[in-house]
Amino acid sequence: MAQLSDDCFAFGGALLPLAQAQARIAELYACVTDIEPVPLADAVGRVLAADAIAAIDLPPQTNSAVDGYAVYHADLLPDRPTLLPVHGRTAAGQAPAGPLPRGQASRIFTGAVMPEGPDTVMMQEDCEVTDAGVLVQPGIRRGANRRPAGEDVARGALALPAGRRLMPPDIGLLGALGLGQLEVHAPLKVVVFSTGDELTDPPVPLVPGRVYDANRFMLSALLHRLGARVADGGILPDDAEATRTALIEAADWADLLLTSGGVSTGEEDHVRTAIEAAGSLTFWRVAIKPGRPVALGEVAGIPLLGLPGNPVAALITFTAVGRPLFDRLAGAVYVPPPHFAVASGFAYRKKAGRREYVRVQIGADGIARRYPKDGAGVLTSLTESDALMELPEEMTALAPGEVAPCIPLGLLHG
Ligand code: AMP
Ligand code: MG
Repeated sequence: MAQLSDDCFAFGGALLPLAQAQARIAELYACVTDIEPVPLADAVGRVLAADAIAAIDLPPQTNSAVDGYAVYHADLLPDRPTLLPVHGRTAAGQAPAGPLPRGQASRIFTGAVMPEGPDTVMMQEDCEVTDAGVLVQPGIRRGANRRPAGEDVARGALALPAGRRLMPPDIGLLGALGLGQLEVHAPLKVVVFSTGDELTDPPVPLVPGRVYDANRFMLSALLHRLGARVADGGILPDDAEATRTALIEAADWADLLLTSGGVSTGEEDHVRTAIEAAGSLTFWRVAIKPGRPVALGEVAGIPLLGLPGNPVAALITFTAVGRPLFDRLAGAVYVPPPHFAVASGFAYRKKAGRREYVRVQIGADGIARRYPKDGAGVLTSLTESDALMELPEEMTALAPGEVAPCIPLGLLHG
């Protein structure tokens, strides 16, 4: 029996569960990029092409974590201060003068190499300097304030694996290991199109019936964050022939074609039909909300991902389907975004069989509140929310107080 519905799920045909869509991507696609060297200073956002192995210990030598006095723990009295004569002084960057004799303390500063012998460093705040030496307080743990060579990374160990998209702390680690030049994947070349006769770009004034394009700019921004080389494919009209021709032309340069809009079943939706006419379609409907119409296929041998037109749906499907595809092609290991368990401040009902992403604000009380305007076209629901609450396929009802996984929105953006 025909069913009327306002939730865009009215028409028939199976929806592909997200996990299966991601599995298809992993199975069908592999890295397509070349490998090139980059200086460390230019490497943020790039994808490591080879394991980064530590050629040195980090730290290279055992050193002090504080300004203070290096001592033999065994010299310290357990229950009262110990007076130790001071022997030698080592500042950061200097080599220690020699071994420290037993029963003495050595002046030392943060980052300075420990002299041979002592195993513990007293913070200067816990010491009293007297004419006879330094008086150190009891109770310190053996090994305190001492940073052993290789404690961070041992020589020969894997520092970062191939496929890692380099984030600022990674750059710091590689720098500390003395790796000034890295082998990385060449940026993935992506052409980004919008589709729709209603779309306009500034500075053209809006005329009735038109809207400004959001997705091309948003998706290009996401891709820049992922280290892509992005080319602007412009706005495609709602015309089958023009869509097909533009996609085939762009496939000449691109490693990946990305469109938004025109993937539904309306007679003005030409992206899916263009894929079918000029290439092949792998899947085109995924069981997520917002989202659902997501077309994956290829045109002239180049993968094409067709995202839905509503901006929120475009962002969420890019994250769920586009990001794994992008990473696969770019040589990066796809790491799903981290989820944090948050208590829901609201009740929610959903259909079984699809994964839903609910835009939420998380208060200082740690409670997630649903963003009130939740249309798939409401961009402020992204700019003003903190996280996406991810409700699994099998769930049909969420009760207030129930804990659900949330993905911080900021972590989705590269
Ligand atoms: P479609 O998927 O083409 O049917 O588009 C669904 C909705 O998203 C329509 O309201 C479109 O106007 C809107 N839309 C499509 N593409 C864009 C875009 N690039 N920027 C902003 N809104 C868009
Ligand atoms: Mg459209």
